[in-house]
Amino acid sequence: MGAEKGLGLKEKSSRKSAGIVIPIDGPAGSGKSTAAKRIAERLDFDYLESGALYRAVGYRVLRKNQEGDFENRAVDSARDLRFECRKEGSVWRNILDGEDVTDALRDEEISDMASRVSAIPGVRAALLDFQRNFGRKRGAVIDGRDIGTVVFPEARLKFFLDADIEVRIQRRFAELKARGVSFDTDRLREDLKRRDERDRHRSSAPLRKAEDAVEIKTNNMGVDQVLEVMLEKLRLVYGEVIEDA
Ligand code: C5P
Repeated sequence: MGAEKGLGLKEKSSRKSAGIVIPIDGPAGSGKSTAAKRIAERLDFDYLESGALYRAVGYRVLRKNQEGDFENRAVDSARDLRFECRKEGSVWRNILDGEDVTDALRDEEISDMASRVSAIPGVRAALLDFQRNFGRKRGAVIDGRDIGTVVFPEARLKFFLDADIEVRIQRRFAELKARGVSFDTDRLREDLKRRDERDRHRSSAPLRKAEDAVEIKTNNMGVDQVLEVMLEKLRLVYGEVIEDA
């Protein structure tokens, strides 16, 4: 108690929340990253976008590491990754090897590469350690495909966000439009479907809902509504830790 007294608010909340990990899984366009960021901000937890880790590996394979066969390059690229999600003002940035790669990682070429490297077991094994270490330090929200099933299966509360494919495609179009990126709608639709199939049917950690995950269908829900549902569940399970959220 005495030691607690000397701590600032932030340290106190870090201490109380240490070891709490909130996994949020779902397919592309389900709204998981937006919800995850908002929850992390609200609870003052750390945030990791695990999809960006796979994108970072894809980025390294395409742009930096071109020696040897594809699989070895991918596994090498996944080792010793220096990666973080850092909040600057109101925007979360992805920093890889000291370089801000936030926009570069959203390229369609990198999206496809991320989905390809993510099916390689050696890549997943290398990133597993990274993610588990990340979640140990203080309260953390991590979004992805297998956070509740493989990375943190013991989490007391986990979420699975989903939406119909057409809704998810329209969200992706809107996101690209907002960023001023030009795109071919037919091609994007096919790309998203192909990645979806690959993610759901690969043998290593496929995308699926953990049995004990709370599923939220976000078809007709705005971000605030999704957030409310999640916070309500969080208060039930972690009431004392997140009492002010
Ligand atoms: O979430 P995002 O679309 O950025 O993820 C990019 C790709 O990374 C996904 O298509 C998926 O193949 C892979 N991924 C994964 N496991 C995670 C997160 C992402 O396999 N936990």
